[in-house]
Amino acid sequence: MSGAGQSVAPALTGYRLERGNAPAPVVAFANQKGGVGKTTTAVNASVFLARSGHRVLLVDMDPQGNATSSLGVDKDALTRSTYDLLTEQIPVEDTIVPQVRPGLDLIPAGPVLAGAEVELVGQTGRERKLEKSLAAALTSYDVILIDCPPSLGLLTVNALTAARSVVVPIQCEFLALEGLGQLIQTIDLVKQSLNPPLDVAGVLMTMYDARTRLSAHVVEEVRRYFPHRIFNAIVPRSVRLAEAPSYGQAIVEYDPASRGSDAYESFARELSARLRLPDPGSAPASTERSDS
Ligand code: ATP
Ligand code: MG
Repeated sequence: MSGAGQSVAPALTGYRLERGNAPAPVVAFANQKGGVGKTTTAVNASVFLARSGHRVLLVDMDPQGNATSSLGVDKDALTRSTYDLLTEQIPVEDTIVPQVRPGLDLIPAGPVLAGAEVELVGQTGRERKLEKSLAAALTSYDVILIDCPPSLGLLTVNALTAARSVVVPIQCEFLALEGLGQLIQTIDLVKQSLNPPLDVAGVLMTMYDARTRLSAHVVEEVRRYFPHRIFNAIVPRSVRLAEAPSYGQAIVEYDPASRGSDAYESFARELSARLRLPDPGSAPASTERSDS
């Protein structure tokens, strides 16, 4: 990453989870299409939910480690990560980087995670490794978010098996709907064979360009495909959103007055309502807008 901000090596010492909550809903951000905004959405939703008072765990399930580095954690200096959770089934709290932001914990990932898919082949219960590992953390959080890689392989299947809901980010681009059938088929398969309660929480339109007719057309088309599932929040194409991760910052930290920040704040509110998260009281403040 060409980061202008600092990356910190994660501290992983004797973290102990507090328990006692109702089990947290687990949400996977999935689309096998690359570069549609899964990570940007998972990271910014996590930060907004934490700022509004929820206790949040973000799980990076992508060997690219983009969610990890987007939050300023050095993905090349990890001592423990999702890889260890999946392959060794070590206790979940031994993999957590606590308080990457107030109220937000992270299970990071780096390139080594790519090996997990190969190592797990042939193991029984390989689709349930993440679900099993996360079970011990469910009552410690209000919500758990999982950032999936751009594939429908074992890592994504593990995420879908551990999740109660899926959010599908879709880029407002030509061929946006291509491959969506395959994603829905995978979700249905996981639902039938591994995880009956799984549902699609919604579809989030990303990188919307108000100057093009194409963006509006794609939103219309997706609305026809998922009439009740599309989130009202639509994320604009914004240079600020693309810049923020290189500073290890969420958009609300990098440019809280931007339209991208407004959009992700609205999305986080809608997601919280759809998941029926308990109202933590205070809401994050966003001031006037500045970017384009
Ligand atoms: P991958 O499939 O590789 O995991 P992804 O689906 O997680 O990708 P992101 O990494 O979130 O997608 O976004 C892809 C790229 O587009 C990143 O460089 C990101 O900073 C940028 N980006 C994301 N959302 C926006 C947006 N709304 N406007 C402009 N750029 C964006
Ligand atoms: Mg990603």
